[in-house]
Amino acid sequence: MGEGILWITSILIMLAIALFLIFSNKEVPMVSKVIMPKEFVDFLNKKFESSNNEFAFCLKGKVENQVFQVLEIAEPKSSTPIGEDSIIAKCPIGTIATIHNHPNKLCKLSSLDLYTFGKSKHPTLGVICGANNIAFYNPSSLDNSISVELGAK
Ligand SMILES: [Zn+2]
Repeated sequence: MGEGILWITSILIMLAIALFLIFSNKEVPMVSKVIMPKEFVDFLNKKFESSNNEFAFCLKGKVENQVFQVLEIAEPKSSTPIGEDSIIAKCPIGTIATIHNHPNKLCKLSSLDLYTFGKSKHPTLGVICGANNIAFYNPSSLDNSISVELGAK
């Protein structure tokens, strides 16, 4: 009798874990292309050229057929950059990805980027690494950036 309950309990726990894994996977859609309105790209370019400090923005939009269409750029609640971790926490609800600059103009993700990207569960992460150089990555393409296309708003 007691053993039976133990069995049922462990099966229920395993089922709960399996469901959790399935649902948490579904939350992160695959993104292999990013479409960003030209005015957002212009805005980020200007910001990059006029700033030697790190900055970050929250990107809202929709993901369909592996395409992330950026529809809104939002500033994190506090402008003090204390690291990607806190930026994500300060992004508004509905944020799909974040983008930040690399003042050193290196497009590669830093080890901190990799860590926070993994924790964020975001489908993509953007890096502005030059005045006309924006790179987006997805969890299965951390070394090579995915394609970015200019779009209309
Ligand atoms: Zn970075």
